[in-house]
Amino acid sequence: RGSTTFDPAPTRGLGEIPQAGPPDADAAVGAARAAMESPEWSGMKPAARARLLNRLADALEANADEFAALETLDNGMPLRDARFFHIAHAVETLRYNAGWATKLNGETIALSGMGDWHAYTLREPVGVVAQIVPWNAPLAMAAAKIAPALAAGCAVILKPAEETSLTALRLAHLIAEIGFPDGAFNLLTGDGETAGAALTAHPGVDKVTFTGSTEVGRLILRAAAGNFKRVTLELGGKTPVIVLPDADPAKAIEGAARAIFTNAGQVCNAGSRLFVHETLHDEVVEGVARIAESIKLGSGFDADTQMGPVISAAQRDRVRDYVRQGVDAGAALRAGGRAVEGEGYFVAPSVLTGTTEDMSVRREEIFGPVLCAMSFADEDLDRIAAQANATDYGLGAVVWTNNLSAAHRLARKLKAGTVRVNGGGLDPALPFGGFKQSGWGRENGREGIDAYTETKAVAIAI
Ligand code: NAD
Repeated sequence: RGSTTFDPAPTRGLGEIPQAGPPDADAAVGAARAAMESPEWSGMKPAARARLLNRLADALEANADEFAALETLDNGMPLRDARFFHIAHAVETLRYNAGWATKLNGETIALSGMGDWHAYTLREPVGVVAQIVPWNAPLAMAAAKIAPALAAGCAVILKPAEETSLTALRLAHLIAEIGFPDGAFNLLTGDGETAGAALTAHPGVDKVTFTGSTEVGRLILRAAAGNFKRVTLELGGKTPVIVLPDADPAKAIEGAARAIFTNAGQVCNAGSRLFVHETLHDEVVEGVARIAESIKLGSGFDADTQMGPVISAAQRDRVRDYVRQGVDAGAALRAGGRAVEGEGYFVAPSVLTGTTEDMSVRREEIFGPVLCAMSFADEDLDRIAAQANATDYGLGAVVWTNNLSAAHRLARKLKAGTVRVNGGGLDPALPFGGFKQSGWGRENGREGIDAYTETKAVAIAI
């Protein structure tokens, strides 16, 4: 049994991806458990784990062109983005986490009870980890999951999205060639309801880390309750981009457009709500709309393509439907709505004005190139933050300003896992995750690797 994976532009089947079911999940969990109990993996010295991860990073870098082509074929993203962001980021993530393998130390603890004590903590790998990733950044997301888990000494079962499994499958070849011990890394392909659900419910899995929709995140939480699996969830977002009156409008325009149109808006942290001070509103919205209209859509393999297709016909229809709902509810379409030439699941970059808080385009994650632009009149940071925080999500926030104290004060008031001021991107060292319904826990940085460990306290009467 299998399902077809698609090239989204032009739309054509690329091949059949095996559909794993409960027996495959059993086999993967068995192999991972055996690795956790084997001297080859659980007894491996931290420096040796670091070397393996660095070798994997080198192999990925050496094959970066091939990985980029696979990613573009399967996901549709521009080849340039695949090569110089997604694959490059995966390489850096592996190297960054390789560095942590030798630094997972506990502490010595001073106890105050009767007697003489030597007490300390150990950081031990959490065990068998199921890792489920979505289709919007397939390899970068897989690397963000497997690198800290393997650095911490966990055994991994990766489940890529059924729409985009090719780079994960190719990565599994590299991992096998490099010589990770048997069972340290396992790959299960197939859809979420079958392969994913078999893993999240499995009693032999100690932890689930998931990136995907808030809706599926809830299902995973329930499934994990059976044996109290540890859970890290990276879910949806509705990131606000706030332009204060002193911002540099040219930079804010460029940054706001990039925040929503990169990867055709299929980014959890996409800046989908733009709040501009009224003195700059018309200039900034017009500038972003102009960029939207000028973006060249096409196959990710065409050198002049700036935006590829969205992942599927269903996603295209969903995004277009949101725009229609917004317009029907009274919003104005300042850009978008144009027909896009060429075969593929294309959606024209769109900018809506005149939206209100009750509209679906303002409340729900669209996961497409659709921006809602609003103006605000006052300079009271509490009121600005309250508007930006008026969402169930809390993944990211972006502020454009040259006012240093406004930047710091607003950063404290925004309910978001990451606040970026005047640009900035992802970094494997910077913790990433959500407040509110955007998730549980953090990936990246020290917190990202700690999430793959259990703390053990040891107290010795001496
Ligand atoms: P999705 O939740 O439908 O699927 C994500 C993954 O979960 C896929 O591998 C899928 O097969 C699997 N899955 C689906 N149902 C499952 C189930 N019942 N049990 C176990 N696994 C299951 O999400 P999607 O549509 O592929 O991706 C888009 C979503 O991902 C958006 O909501 C976006 O915000 C989110 N996302 C979040 C982040 C982040 O870091 N916070 C990053 C990227 C994407």
